[in-house]
Amino acid sequence: MRTIKILAFFAILVFAGCWSIDSKAGNSRTEMPSERPVATPTPRITPTMTTTPTIANGKKSGGFMAQLPSDFEQPSDDAGRLLLREYGSLFVAGNGAIAPKKVVFKDESDVMAFQASVPQSTETIGGYSVTLQTPAMTALKAAIAEARSAGLSIGPRGADSAKRGYKQTVTLWASRVNPGFVFWVGKGRVTQAEASRIKAMSPFEQVPEILRLEQSGIYFAKDLSKSIIYSVAPPGTSQHLSMLALDVQQNENPRVREILARNGWFQTVSSDLPHFTYLGVPETDLPGLGLKPVTNSGRRFWVPDL
Ligand SMILES: [Zn+2]
Repeated sequence: MRTIKILAFFAILVFAGCWSIDSKAGNSRTEMPSERPVATPTPRITPTMTTTPTIANGKKSGGFMAQLPSDFEQPSDDAGRLLLREYGSLFVAGNGAIAPKKVVFKDESDVMAFQASVPQSTETIGGYSVTLQTPAMTALKAAIAEARSAGLSIGPRGADSAKRGYKQTVTLWASRVNPGFVFWVGKGRVTQAEASRIKAMSPFEQVPEILRLEQSGIYFAKDLSKSIIYSVAPPGTSQHLSMLALDVQQNENPRVREILARNGWFQTVSSDLPHFTYLGVPETDLPGLGLKPVTNSGRRFWVPDL
């Protein structure tokens, strides 16, 4: 009997204590347990993406390679060839657009040297400062004017929707690579030593290492179920570094996409729905540049016909 009384007493104390804590929490706590900060203002992952790009493998290169400038540095490894296939439409841009002569910028000074070498313009559009190569900006302004006369608007998604610096691409890359290694080391698929070895490398050197791991199904996209290149552009490969790309706020509107296309702006990265690339030519000229249309999420993307 005494034992029961003691147990009951403790039960009341515990209950009272819990209630007291809950009550206090409900009435006086002003801060919630902190959630993981959302640090990426313009996430590259597109939740609505339902398919992976369908680009034929092993097909002989068609006209695309012949369209590249003669001084273009052809990629010599699998990673470089993959990146050319996924992001390469930019390299055949015309009508004054100047594309880099390589698939991957090596480092920040490489990017800065390129960016300093091409004519560029900065305008405030939709409240954001937008910097693009001058012919791309001229065409964008024409598209904006055309949209306005049709009662539509065209603008950037955010502050980093146009020109980017190398460091931004490194930060985005690390935001996928670092959590990826935590996951895969935890799963026992990658050793801590291997993860540390790769993380100690320069971002430029990490790219082929990460793509090599992905050949074994060790993926680094945000959801860890597909390649990192469908999530972020590897450092030095983003079309934004070339100032010929814009992430468009109104990208879901087919009329906006039509107006952009009429002005030389096309979708060329099939995993990236807000992303447009300035190619500078009419759509009917794109096949002649070695590009082919692929459909994803009901949209047409022009990708290298490789
Ligand atoms: Zn983009």
